[in-house]
Amino acid sequence: MKLFLPLKLLFRLFAVLLMAMDGVQAVDLRGVEVALDGGASPESFEVELIGPFKLQIRAQEEAGAKPPRMHVQLPNSGTNAWPAADVEVRDGSGKVLLVQRTGIEWFKLSFALPQGGGTCVVQAVEPVGGWPKATSDKDRVIQDGVSGLRLRVAKWHAGRTAALSLRFDDSHPSHLTKAIPILDEYGFRGTFMVNPGASESGSRRVSDFEQHHAEWESLAMKGTHELANHSAHHRGGFSDVDTEAEIGEAAQAIWKLTPSRSQLMALNLGGGTRWETTRTLRFYLDKYHQFDAAENSTGMDDSYGGRVENFRRILAQHIQRGLWCRVHYHYIGENLSSTEANFRAALDIAKEHATELWIAGMADIHKYQTERNAAKLQVIQSAPRKLSFELACSTDSALYDHPLTLELAIAPGMEATKMIIKDANQAVLPAQPGKIDGADALRFVVPPRTAAYSIELTP
Ligand SMILES: [Zn+2]
Repeated sequence: MKLFLPLKLLFRLFAVLLMAMDGVQAVDLRGVEVALDGGASPESFEVELIGPFKLQIRAQEEAGAKPPRMHVQLPNSGTNAWPAADVEVRDGSGKVLLVQRTGIEWFKLSFALPQGGGTCVVQAVEPVGGWPKATSDKDRVIQDGVSGLRLRVAKWHAGRTAALSLRFDDSHPSHLTKAIPILDEYGFRGTFMVNPGASESGSRRVSDFEQHHAEWESLAMKGTHELANHSAHHRGGFSDVDTEAEIGEAAQAIWKLTPSRSQLMALNLGGGTRWETTRTLRFYLDKYHQFDAAENSTGMDDSYGGRVENFRRILAQHIQRGLWCRVHYHYIGENLSSTEANFRAALDIAKEHATELWIAGMADIHKYQTERNAAKLQVIQSAPRKLSFELACSTDSALYDHPLTLELAIAPGMEATKMIIKDANQAVLPAQPGKIDGADALRFVVPPRTAAYSIELTP
């Protein structure tokens, strides 16, 4: 039996066909979608989930046929989401296959099935020590009846309700002439995703970054804005070696400009780029101290339409839910991706929410979020009016160096000025008065490291 197939066939349809043809039960792929092209007939392959995050594809040899390409789309949100950065593909002998992805959708894979049929496996490789598990809200709170003190790790830096990152892609000259001076006027920190690779021989593309190197260097030295990795040349990668060079060279160029800072930085491989590698994204992230910052961002180019009002709406939603709102721009100015007027209008909206928002660089926000998810508070000892406690934080302090904010509730009858907070060396920590849900509180910052502290209510 020969069927004529569209170029891409969704697995769900295929499963129905299989059932009709062979009486085989439909396989539940938990949100994974599989399609193939190359004109292969549906009876020539089978797909099955054989473990959590492990998909087996069995292809039969078709005489003389070119091995078809598989397209696998993994669910990237919800309860069935796969850890896409950890996914690789191997053939039946265990050899890793070359997989193609686009720069901003690592959860969509495309690869040629092994020549001559056989089995291959799409699987997420668990990192050494397991996938990180976030601590719970309960782990990050102390409610101590003996001392009467209540303490917690703040959701966001300085007790803000939500976070906002403003990202600018492609190291465009208008970032230096427009975006940065305007952000400085507002006092907002931006994240600049740059392509710091030198112009390549044989390419007509001139490096904007190279042409304005001195300006980017002085920006990096000032430290008011964050530089991030948008790959060396914004052209994708065509092999393991090439992919590593594109990620690694950009990281090194940025490290060179920011020698005194943590090496951790945001990575976004770029819209419209293709990457062919046998390796997991995790390999590159870990080796170069990057974190994936490509997804869940709202594009602010005027061509999408209604950007200012859309920003007002999504920002309000993120504030309401206490989340990290991410937006990205390309070029700023007249006849460019965003007009200066629309750029300013969005910044004005952010300014209206200044007291609720932590407007920061993407690495700052990622650090805080990761540190908080790795933090626990525990009572060491408590007595009336006195508490000693430990903050445990399991992140690597060489990379994750953003201070954590702790919030101390001021119960009725307590006086903020009589609360003395000390670190393990008996140094008094400065604290700022604030409010938690309308009630008085004190906030203080501590390094994201495991350490002991004490709080005393003096008479
Ligand atoms: Zn880009």
